Amino acid sequence: MDYRVISFHYTLTDEAGKVLDSSRSAEPFAFMTGSRQIIPGLEDQISSLEKGSRKNITVLAADAYGERDEELIIREPRDKFGEAGVRVGDRFRAGQEEEARIFTVVDVSETEVTLDGNHPLAGKNLFFDVEITDVRDATSEEIQHGHAHGEGGHAH
Ligand code: ZN
Repeated sequence: MDYRVISFHYTLTDEAGKVLDSSRSAEPFAFMTGSRQIIPGLEDQISSLEKGSRKNITVLAADAYGERDEELIIREPRDKFGEAGVRVGDRFRAGQEEEARIFTVVDVSETEVTLDGNHPLAGKNLFFDVEITDVRDATSEEIQHGHAHGEGGHAH
């Protein structure tokens, strides 16, 4: 396996063309190939591109954040959340270590709180407009650490 560090600008939109995220207002994002720093469906399609190339890349939900799992929508009695109360959009970590997930409150009724443990981008096909700004070999230190260093990479 050859390890390379690829830097790129991206604009991420959903099916409706709504911009979900973009690197354009900051420095390009840098990742090391084979390090699982970005979603697999994007890495597969980006790894063969050369510096300076620009491409529209579609990543289906299954190769991005996975399909939505309706079993991750759970309801809890409201009084479990105590006096301070709970609001739509609040986030909680639940579960054991590796299995831990972030649950987001999606509904609050008089008696119940509904939480969703799906990633906010689960079930969505993602559309990336990508511009490769740099491609270089990874340093031995980066290979040891398992991530890219330098501009747009991991800061220690
Ligand atoms: Zn490092």
